Amino acid sequence: MPQADAQAGLQVIPLKCPRCKTQLNAEDRDVVYYCAQCREGFELAGNKFFPVQVRFALPQCSRQGTPVYLPLWCFSVAPEFQSKNRFKLTRINQFGFAFRKVYVEGFSRQATSLRLDIGLLYTNAQLEFETVQYNTLRGCSRYRKDALQFAKIIVLALIDQKVDITGVDVQLNVQDWNLVGFPFYKEGIAYYDGILGKKFYID
Ligand SMILES: [Zn+2]
Repeated sequence: MPQADAQAGLQVIPLKCPRCKTQLNAEDRDVVYYCAQCREGFELAGNKFFPVQVRFALPQCSRQGTPVYLPLWCFSVAPEFQSKNRFKLTRINQFGFAFRKVYVEGFSRQATSLRLDIGLLYTNAQLEFETVQYNTLRGCSRYRKDALQFAKIIVLALIDQKVDITGVDVQLNVQDWNLVGFPFYKEGIAYYDGILGKKFYID
């Protein structure tokens, strides 16, 4: 949460919705705040709030209990691959263009294998979902620009399952983006995602 620091002459940023002035819920590490009143998110960069469209995904598998909604960035992209190896580039382009949506975890958790990354699994599935009205989003602690960097890693990691990505780069050309609250069900110390029904550990 931004702190006032009068001695350093920094500007105080009250955590109120810039539109309706409702108090916003936030945790220490958050960089995007959701206003349930306005049904909109705000990314705090510097001392300015930038609007973020937030949607909530309807659960696709039924589980006991009420889900919590955790944020993932969703980018609609037109990937453009680069490699000096033209043969390799042709092979990559055969399936690389399938990655039209890239999902990146917006919440923080302890270092975990990329294999277990929820964003990677959703991207691999090219997940489609229906939206639902909901009004609570758990903290998003990853800036959009950092998420976009990670989106490249996810795409390249998925490509690498088929073609070695040595010497390959990708430009994602983002066409649209928003933040999606995905449903997760807590069971003991594990979470089950409400879309693929996979088990995760989130701190
Ligand atoms: Zn508001």
